[in-house]
Amino acid sequence: MKPRIHLIATGGTIAGASPSATDTTDYRAGTLTIEALIASVPPLADLAELTTEQLYKLDSKDMTPRHWLGLARAIEAAVAQEHIDGVVITHGTDTLEESAFFADLVLTPDKPVVFTCAMRPATALSPDGPMNLYNAVSVACDPSAAGLGVLVVTNDRIHAAREVTKAHTQAVDAFISPDTGPLGWARPPLITHKPVRPIGHPVELQGISTLPRVDILFVTAGSTPDLLQACIAAGARGIVLALPGHASVPESWKGPIAQLRNKGYPVIETSRTGAGPLTMSTEMSRTPTKARIELMLELSISDRTPPLGKAS
Ligand code: ASP
Repeated sequence: MKPRIHLIATGGTIAGASPSATDTTDYRAGTLTIEALIASVPPLADLAELTTEQLYKLDSKDMTPRHWLGLARAIEAAVAQEHIDGVVITHGTDTLEESAFFADLVLTPDKPVVFTCAMRPATALSPDGPMNLYNAVSVACDPSAAGLGVLVVTNDRIHAAREVTKAHTQAVDAFISPDTGPLGWARPPLITHKPVRPIGHPVELQGISTLPRVDILFVTAGSTPDLLQACIAAGARGIVLALPGHASVPESWKGPIAQLRNKGYPVIETSRTGAGPLTMSTEMSRTPTKARIELMLELSISDRTPPLGKAS
């Protein structure tokens, strides 16, 4: 019997359509249905029995934390079904690393969960989506892809959601895992490395209804710390700094950061370089984008923890 794979479609360029076969920037993301995508990849029928769910039809630039929550719940529900062997999510490339990392932090699936995408719309001369979808389904069919956290399959490679990032505006090899490299090859699936960071599970998905606002400030030569107060005034509950080098804090920012921390606002220091450890002794840093998601989840836990002495 063929493996049963559940496909959750959210939109993106993989479902994009353009009036031109050669212009890979002027198109509408999230136009085609998941059924239309499957129909464009006939060999999928040899790989797996597919069920589908058209969850969203979004350009992923328009995803919000509310969508992450809805998507993570849909993945959790699919994984919980006994007859499902793996889950594939089609997603836009722009914020794929955010949705996939969020899912990685709140789920511990015992079956393969694989995000995939495309850099060229489905109507392009040589679209990358059909092969990416085929590869993602074959990885989701492979039991060796289970227990590795949420995966991202694109351009023939398998990446860990916690490592991968989009690093090019248009190339089909836009995704890299800068500190670790990919986990393996997608066709046929071959895992060559296990994820190095522990599989996170800081928060039970059940019970989170909203995520607190956390802002990222990109710190440049001469940028001023009054931006910190502007974020708090606008409603941020915490701030992630994308700092130069190994997260070097400009002298003029040190006092205002300390003041905010004293008032109970977390201020997280990350590097804007995109890779490498922050000091000689710590593990590899998180990108600002991923540190923001971790902080949102941490704050959502503290929101639900009763103050000491008031536990019911
Ligand atoms: N703007 C598109 C999206 O993220 C880009 C893509 O999918 O490549 O939905």
